[in-house]
Amino acid sequence: MAFPTLSSGPSSMPSVRALKGKTALVTGSTSGIGLGIATALAHAGASVVLNGLGNADAIEQTRAALERAADVKVRFDGADLSKAADCVAMVERAESAFGKLDVLVNNAGIQFVSPIENFPPEKWDAILSLNLSAVFHASRAAFGGMKARKFGRIINIASAHGLVASPFKSAYVAAKHGVVGLTKVIGLEGAEHNVTANAICPGYVWTPLVEKQIDDQAKAHNISREAVIRDVLLAQQPNKKFATVEEMGALAVFLASDMAASITGTALPVDGGWTAH
Ligand code: NAD
Repeated sequence: MAFPTLSSGPSSMPSVRALKGKTALVTGSTSGIGLGIATALAHAGASVVLNGLGNADAIEQTRAALERAADVKVRFDGADLSKAADCVAMVERAESAFGKLDVLVNNAGIQFVSPIENFPPEKWDAILSLNLSAVFHASRAAFGGMKARKFGRIINIASAHGLVASPFKSAYVAAKHGVVGLTKVIGLEGAEHNVTANAICPGYVWTPLVEKQIDDQAKAHNISREAVIRDVLLAQQPNKKFATVEEMGALAVFLASDMAASITGTALPVDGGWTAH
């Protein structure tokens, strides 16, 4: 038996607009990593739904600018994903606006840092509901349509903290480990239907979420912002560099593409070597 070769020569390689004709919903994409991923998916040719909180005029400017620059349809959905019903309604609106949903990126997330004995129970509930339960509710709502259409890509933005722990982040680490587990389950359930699920596990990426931690940790340890960046945050990251939202976007585009069909149920660290320790 002959070995398989490229099915149709060099033209079978992925093109720059690898996601042309696809539709994507990126939660928490008014800022940071989510906006970086939505931007990359749109430039790869996907129609995109943005979601998140923030100033309505600023969000509309972002939406219109991305639509112009990427030459695809970009919509905005203001669902509050701390509520289960909003997660489901957001997925239904995306499906009815675009006729289908091919790619769901569960990215919205919050952080709170405190020793466990002082950790406010309401912060635990808020983090578990957005960082973990919303991933379940949105994936559950999107899965049936993906399965029926025989194409789906669920990309969960977990964290290096989905693989290892740090002190003072009890709720965040618990939620992100939960996301990695949920990703494996969805990967297994979707495998025969060309529905993949993968978790991206970033180390530190400089976004508003991290910016707030720099200030909080500087106050907590009574040290400068520079010392927090060097001795607290990047101390974990062997390459001593923040990862970028563009790197997250490029990986999400690949995971959403046909060429990633055999990658499922994984947790992919993008952490400069942190979890290799
Ligand atoms: P960010 O604060 O810049 O963005 C968070 C997004 O979530 C915003 O668009 C915000 O409006 C949205 N959001 C917050 N509450 C919401 C709600 N109730 N409903 C809908 N949207 C809501 O944060 P980021 O750093 O870009 O983080 C994005 C994801 O990446 C999070 O899940 C975070 O845990 C994860 N992550 C970040 C880092 C990092 O270093 N920045 C590292 C690992 C993982």
